[in-house]
Amino acid sequence: MKKRLLGKTPEELKTIVAEAGLPGYTASQIARWMYVRKVRSIDMMTDISKAGRERLSAEYEVGVTEYSSLQTSSDGTRKYLFPVLCTGKSALALADDCKVPEDFMEPGAVEAVMIPDEDRATLCVSSQSGCRMGCRFCMTGRQGFHGHLSAADILSQFIAVDESDRLTNAVFMGMGEPLDNFENVMRAVEVLTSEWGFGWSPKRITLSTIGVMPALERYLKESRCHLAISLHDPFPDERLSIMPMEKAYGIKDIVSLVRQYDFSGQRRVSFEYTMFAGFNDSIRHADALSRLLRGMECRVNLIRFHKIPDFPYECPSDVIIRRFQERLAANGILTTVRASRGEDILAACGMLAGKFRK
Ligand code: SF4
Repeated sequence: MKKRLLGKTPEELKTIVAEAGLPGYTASQIARWMYVRKVRSIDMMTDISKAGRERLSAEYEVGVTEYSSLQTSSDGTRKYLFPVLCTGKSALALADDCKVPEDFMEPGAVEAVMIPDEDRATLCVSSQSGCRMGCRFCMTGRQGFHGHLSAADILSQFIAVDESDRLTNAVFMGMGEPLDNFENVMRAVEVLTSEWGFGWSPKRITLSTIGVMPALERYLKESRCHLAISLHDPFPDERLSIMPMEKAYGIKDIVSLVRQYDFSGQRRVSFEYTMFAGFNDSIRHADALSRLLRGMECRVNLIRFHKIPDFPYECPSDVIIRRFQERLAANGILTTVRASRGEDILAACGMLAGKFRK
């Protein structure tokens, strides 16, 4: 099996080209072909000599993973399915009542979702196959964990989608907990935001996490990209009942950590709050959430819950959601209600499970 060049830095490429007996500047040529021109094969790198390309190809390939299926929603959202990339056994011992229905599963497959919006095209990227965080309201979490995506497989999502050349933004909000796959995600972010890579501004990228603390601290220090924290409930005991990782990384500690960083400039932090009727949608919750976030430069995104099997809650009515939003606003918290996108093709928040609705 050939080794993949995708995801390598110019420094690493220099070592590779030196081993192939090629001049050092070939490394920048390869980076340009892969990250700017997005070619799929070494043979297309025509400013490298034919003999040089042949020597490289003996051991290496670019290594873009192409998508295997595509579905388009009535609202224009497009969901891409990538073939099984990870085949690790599920690390989760899920209770029977917590399992994904048989016909829902395609273990190891990964999805990316392109969300068009006026002049924007945002790619919702996956960082793992499945997830081991076990959030009870999320189909990906129900699926268990099949493995970490390599940096090459994360970057493949950017290159393989049909909209590759007109993507404006990316959110690490697809399958998986990105900070549980820190090194590969940060490598992909480095390629995306470096001048020798895709050349994106960090402002175009948002990473969403439930708050895996040690990695979160490194992300805050080492990256300039935006941050979204999956909060979902201001009361630790309630949050624990739907998000098992609250036990290890409590929401109060997460917010205290985030408070230590400056979000008054270009970098932004938002808090994701999925609404469950009768669980976290009361005025008491809105006030507790406001107290938790008081004084922070941040935004709360309210997300409509999309019903999944074997989870007891529904989405609250629009009236309740608006009442919650108005209470937060009255408490001085900037709040938006996120529009649901791609629900008809199971592409909305919490619905990614490697299954295409027929
Ligand atoms: Fe994992 Fe995110 Fe789903 Fe939680 S919500 S199980 S962290 S993918």
